[in-house]
Amino acid sequence: MKRTLAGLVCTCVVLAGAALAQQGLEDVQIRAEKIRGNVYALISDRAGNIGASVGEDGILIIDDKFAPLADKIRAALAGIGQGPLKFVLNTHWHGDHTGGNVVFGKQAPIIAHTNVRKRLAEGSAARNVRPAPKEALPVITFDESLSVHFNGEEIKAFHIPHGHTDGDIVLLFTKSNVAHLGDDFFAGRFPFVDIDSGGSVRGLIRGIAHLLEQLPDDVAIIPGHGPVSTKENLREYYTMLVETTEHVRKQMEEGKSLDAILQAGVPERWKSWAWNFINEERWIRIIHRSLTGQRLDFPVPRGRDGHGHPHPH
Ligand SMILES: [Zn+2]
Repeated sequence: MKRTLAGLVCTCVVLAGAALAQQGLEDVQIRAEKIRGNVYALISDRAGNIGASVGEDGILIIDDKFAPLADKIRAALAGIGQGPLKFVLNTHWHGDHTGGNVVFGKQAPIIAHTNVRKRLAEGSAARNVRPAPKEALPVITFDESLSVHFNGEEIKAFHIPHGHTDGDIVLLFTKSNVAHLGDDFFAGRFPFVDIDSGGSVRGLIRGIAHLLEQLPDDVAIIPGHGPVSTKENLREYYTMLVETTEHVRKQMEEGKSLDAILQAGVPERWKSWAWNFINEERWIRIIHRSLTGQRLDFPVPRGRDGHGHPHPH
């Protein structure tokens, strides 16, 4: 199994707790990248990608990384435009996408799926995530879809049921022709599917199939993690999801043990999609568990910033 050592190191860092994690954040650099029209992405090696609409109505952001990065996020936004922050959207509840809510929620209303508010409000004892304070909670919630009319375009938000979690939304900037897919899309790498938060590998596959039908062919896509991508990149990700899941499913059907399936690995074509957090072994375990409903037998990363952070990035 490739990258086992990197995986171990990563797990240790993830489990080491808030103090160490926030030390690590001091060196994080946030790069603002203009995508199209009014839309920008704020990209960093650590934490989820932010999408931003900046224009005459002010600023709208999608996700807000970790609270300790708030000053760097502000500085990156100031480099793009001077307007006031008007809206914050959360693609899902994980702390590397909502940690900054505690700061930005004081300035602008937070919009998210119903289950994001519920999970943030409850926290997770199993994952050592404390309930979020009131100012970090979404104040506008929805179940299926919602539009924000801002900076000269309709920004459509759709719920993807049981993908990465049970509270995922994807956003489409209809005029700028840019989408933000949150963690339903890990560009060029195996995704984390948070089964304990209502995520499902099959649900994710269905969700991506739906997006491939619905999104314009020339859309620019901001993934939850990784570089800004094309629909072709999303199609390849979909093929990876389908082929690796089918590979595991067939072996399960043949009565192979999990150990034997792990031994077989993923098809050669997809081995390079392993990375330090979700290596080949973990991806197979996630698929296996999602198909059987069993517990994952590797430790689920615990919160590291006080607001829940299942990812090292
Ligand atoms: Zn996530």
